[in-house]
Amino acid sequence: MIEKIYEGQQKAEREEIIKRAGDIIKGGGLVAFPTETVYGLGADALNEQAAKKIYAAKGRPSDNPLIIHIADMESIGKITESVSAKAKIAADAFWPGPLTMIFGKSAVVPQGTTGGLDTVAVRMPEHEIARELIKAGGGYVAAPSANTSGRPSPTAAGHVETDLNGKIDMIVDGGCVEIGVESTILDMTVEPPMILRPGAVTREMLEERIGAVAVDKTLIGESSTAAPKAPGMKYRHYAPRAELTVVEGEISRVVDEIRRLTRERIGAGARVGVIATEETVGLYTEGDVKCIGPREDESAIAGHLYGILREFDSDEVDYIYSEAFDTGGIGNAVMNRLMKAAGQRVIKVSRGVR
Ligand code: AMP
Ligand code: MG
Repeated sequence: MIEKIYEGQQKAEREEIIKRAGDIIKGGGLVAFPTETVYGLGADALNEQAAKKIYAAKGRPSDNPLIIHIADMESIGKITESVSAKAKIAADAFWPGPLTMIFGKSAVVPQGTTGGLDTVAVRMPEHEIARELIKAGGGYVAAPSANTSGRPSPTAAGHVETDLNGKIDMIVDGGCVEIGVESTILDMTVEPPMILRPGAVTREMLEERIGAVAVDKTLIGESSTAAPKAPGMKYRHYAPRAELTVVEGEISRVVDEIRRLTRERIGAGARVGVIATEETVGLYTEGDVKCIGPREDESAIAGHLYGILREFDSDEVDYIYSEAFDTGGIGNAVMNRLMKAAGQRVIKVSRGVR
């Protein structure tokens, strides 16, 4: 049920796998496949019964709409009411890529795909396997992250297997994903357009092309008790099994605090995981310490986050303490996911206060 696609593979073999996967999707089945963001669980977006299977396999709440993936710009007209000039500029600049845009939906898109909404989320991914599969599957593939609802999104085929083995028809293994956090979601039905989920395409990148862009205020930090505008963002998503706490502040104080908490929990008989950076990893002497990457390399941090959360699940730790990461660029998306995984549990340390 897992089919591998790799560099240097026979062309005919690769084509056969893609064709078989495409036929499964056209026949109303489910195929997990790699995209540049995370692994997606694909089904025919225009077939309501197929979309329903996605919700069942993932255990996903039915009001959480699916993103429709397309492979070329010609496909967009059929599923949307209209595409504004601004949206075309954004598509020109960032498609194919990690950007999802929300439009008014056309009548052919079943409500079962959009969670009952009159809007539809559309993305054109860049990953070669994803693009081939979308075409082979009929051109409109609904593909949420291929994890069990509530668990960290899958960044490798093995993660998909852990969560969905036996519940779906095929997993296409194309190796590790590039980015590691889900796409930026940009609502084009409001003016100015609004970011509903931060991702690799940042507000600054968007504003450079289409002018002012708003950000859903519920995304990061303090105001996060209000209901987010993307239905899926309200769920405690991305969560490891252990209780995760983010420790924020001046880095040497953060390390001290995490060391203190780790020692305390271990003393009480618990298993503790620590998410450290290359600069600090040597400073932690107790607990199950994992390095997420160099502090200034936000892309590396994004790429490792979900995999590390999953490793802690297998290690069966009870508590996880993580350093906070800077919130510039894709770091914004990382902090958004980390804070959600933590259920917004954060300890702020400041100089001279313990
Ligand atoms: P996933 O594909 O699992 O990363 O989840 C898709 C995300 O897109 C969820 O957070 C959804 O709530 C969001 N989404 C999909 N369609 C819409 C829509 N029409 N309006 C707002 N958010 C949407
Ligand atoms: Mg998801």
